[in-house]
Amino acid sequence: MAPRRPRDPAPAASGPDMSQLRAVAARGLRRSGGRAAPQQPARQSRKGASLRGGAPAPLPAPPPAQHLFSDPAEIEALRGNLLAWYDRCKRDLPWRTLAATELDADRRAYAVWVSEIMLQQTQVATVIDYYNRWMQKWPTLQALAQASLEEVNELWAGLGYYSRGKRLQEAARKVVSELAGRMPRTAEDLQKLLPGVGRYTAGAIASISYGQATGVVDGNVIRVLCRLRCIGADSSSPLVVDRLWDMANALVDRSRPGDFNQALMELGATVCVPKAPLCGECPVKQHCRARRRVEKELAFASQKLFGKPTLVPDVEDCVGGCPLCPPATEPWDSSLGVTNFPRKAAKKQPRVVKTATCVLERRGCHGAPEYLIVQRPNSGLLAGLWEFPSLLLAQGLQEEKQQEALADHLQAWMGWPVAARDLQFVGEVVHIFSHIHQTYVVYSLPLDGDVTLDPASSPSRWVTEEEFHASAVSTAMKKVLKAREKQRGKESSSVTGSKRKRGAKSQGAGSTSPGTQLSLRAFLRAPTAL
Ligand code: SF4
Repeated sequence: MAPRRPRDPAPAASGPDMSQLRAVAARGLRRSGGRAAPQQPARQSRKGASLRGGAPAPLPAPPPAQHLFSDPAEIEALRGNLLAWYDRCKRDLPWRTLAATELDADRRAYAVWVSEIMLQQTQVATVIDYYNRWMQKWPTLQALAQASLEEVNELWAGLGYYSRGKRLQEAARKVVSELAGRMPRTAEDLQKLLPGVGRYTAGAIASISYGQATGVVDGNVIRVLCRLRCIGADSSSPLVVDRLWDMANALVDRSRPGDFNQALMELGATVCVPKAPLCGECPVKQHCRARRRVEKELAFASQKLFGKPTLVPDVEDCVGGCPLCPPATEPWDSSLGVTNFPRKAAKKQPRVVKTATCVLERRGCHGAPEYLIVQRPNSGLLAGLWEFPSLLLAQGLQEEKQQEALADHLQAWMGWPVAARDLQFVGEVVHIFSHIHQTYVVYSLPLDGDVTLDPASSPSRWVTEEEFHASAVSTAMKKVLKAREKQRGKESSSVTGSKRKRGAKSQGAGSTSPGTQLSLRAFLRAPTAL
């Protein structure tokens, strides 16, 4: 058994009986509606009917039984099987340990909250190290509320989706300043009062930290539920989303809601995975209708082999036109098996963006390179992060014009004349943000000595390579620096090679001893390998 943690008084959560489950199912049906009568139109038509003095319109038909959990005995069995598997197989994760051992409800909720925000769009393996460092640095809401955005960005650097860290800190400040440091105690209040906390995160915090019997629906849960109940309609459509939330709320175990929710997500992350689910090892396989369908097809195929094909339809099978089944245009595909579910609408193509960026560099102590980085504005994409001076390029701008535009931008920024020909092309670096396909056209420009920038422009600073990596810089900028370093490595080896060829004769005349500072113009003429 998983260790039980002390809980604040949780909202009343009695075990579900048949009438409760049916009520949940009926509510879901009314909300999602049948294909012919979704909720809003149905309400309007009932109102219209009574105004006209006619009989109220009938409630929409319930979804076919194959998409429901309507048998309390089956629900109980599924809960038991899933929780027993979770107790045996769950991964040991730092936030689970904290949630199970922390006595203080606010600290516990905070620990779960941080993990849930970090885990959005990011793999568990990547999050662990970030989570440990975060909780070590800011073990409480109060500590986080006192941190600067710069510190938050520095710790978050490399985790992606940077606005998550910023919003987490803003919400922590709100809890401290407006809620006297006390976390809201229900999923409803968490969602209502905390910026950046949506329905899923609120449900996860409330069920795991306070034991509130409320379900959660994330990508893993969507996959598992859609397979368990053969839901093949677009899983991001409001109708399906509503059904899944109703299902999650009906299924959640009343005595161990946090463990149950984590178990369902764990199942999706480790067993019921997107491409090759391990159905043979699945603790809920006997409840899975996608698997049942595959087995039925296999049995039919083997009967066919012996000339006795008798495919008997299930009494619960849909007869056609079902809003939760795969659309008629994309019917069940036998070659996909259980991975027929879930279905998603085609993804929107990411926006294609091109940015010219310049690695401005100089020799620092002992000849080691230093880089000039500049801070981005405090709102928008990558808010508050540091980067190499960059310029968003207009669509379709020709190559030589891109270089000129970047030179003009740098000139305006530094107040020095910068010729396009002084910019050395490094290469292109592609980075995919969630909705943007970003290509950085990278140049480098060696500088001599300090650059005095207009204090009115964005904050900037020189950093060593080590300082660069410790700064709040995005993964994309780390790729840019890597490209520049790779190029420098090639330059060094070609310079060394040609020096060897030229031999001792060329040594001395016109050479510069290591560490000597060149003037800007001389530097721009000098070999660029630092
Ligand atoms: Fe997923 Fe297979 Fe388990 Fe069904 S039996 S829930 S498809 S792993």
